[in-house]
Amino acid sequence: MKKKYGQNFLINKSIVKEIIEAADIKTNDEILEIGPGDGILTKEIIHKKPKKFITIEIDKSLKENLDILFFKKTSHEYEILFKDALQFDETSKFNNNFKIISNLPYNVSLPLLIKWINQLNKYPVAKKMILMFQKEVAERILAKINSKKYGRISILSSVYYDIKKIIDVDKKNFFPMPKVNSSVLVFDLLKKPMLDISNIENLQKVTLELFNNRRKKIKKKLQTIFSNEIISKNFLEELFDLRAENIPPQMYCKLALLLKKN
Ligand code: SAM
Repeated sequence: MKKKYGQNFLINKSIVKEIIEAADIKTNDEILEIGPGDGILTKEIIHKKPKKFITIEIDKSLKENLDILFFKKTSHEYEILFKDALQFDETSKFNNNFKIISNLPYNVSLPLLIKWINQLNKYPVAKKMILMFQKEVAERILAKINSKKYGRISILSSVYYDIKKIIDVDKKNFFPMPKVNSSVLVFDLLKKPMLDISNIENLQKVTLELFNNRRKKIKKKLQTIFSNEIISKNFLEELFDLRAENIPPQMYCKLALLLKKN
């Protein structure tokens, strides 16, 4: 087992079952799995016979076992790629909006999620994701305004996805046992996102600026990002005494749009 790759393998079949049920795999689905490991989820995904299935594993030493799983599959629509999922271009392999299923490696879980959200201005995109995170990271994703855990990732994900926690997973359900517990979240792409996807870069910019120093009131930051005219026309003075964590996602979306006009 390689610690550097976050190799803590799931050993509880009933959790596998819940993840697969939440994915609701249909025969015309296109599926991406990150980090098959010993294939506990992979096997069940194949069993559901999706139209297309790609799984990406960074650790080539797992190749022999994984090849056995794929041996019976003659379909060229099923592929194992041995590479870094962060470097993978989903649009090069999928034809339609796809689903992602993964017990994510801890060290790259947030970079991967951010990558998928940033890709929403391309086609195809992840329409549904069933992802296992470290519990603390899941709490940050789900966090609501006015809480310490609320931050850029809570905003970016909730502007584009409806997110629900389906299960907390105790660390005892993995081998080797990690130090922390996990949670599985289901992300469903919103039919009407809070902000048009073409503005995602501005949303990234504005959240980055305001959360840069989350304990400070945002007056100075707003004054450096926006002209006086934009501030007064849009009553942004009303936000001056607030901190980044007191601003709802909808207001971040408005600020992202104002950035364009600035
Ligand atoms: N799917 C298995 C399970 O549920 O038991 C294994 C999950 S394990 C938490 C994470 C897996 O992701 C490991 O097999 C690891 O080698 C792989 N991995 C780590 N970093 C990766 C990366 N950047 N790209 C692709 N796979 C990666």
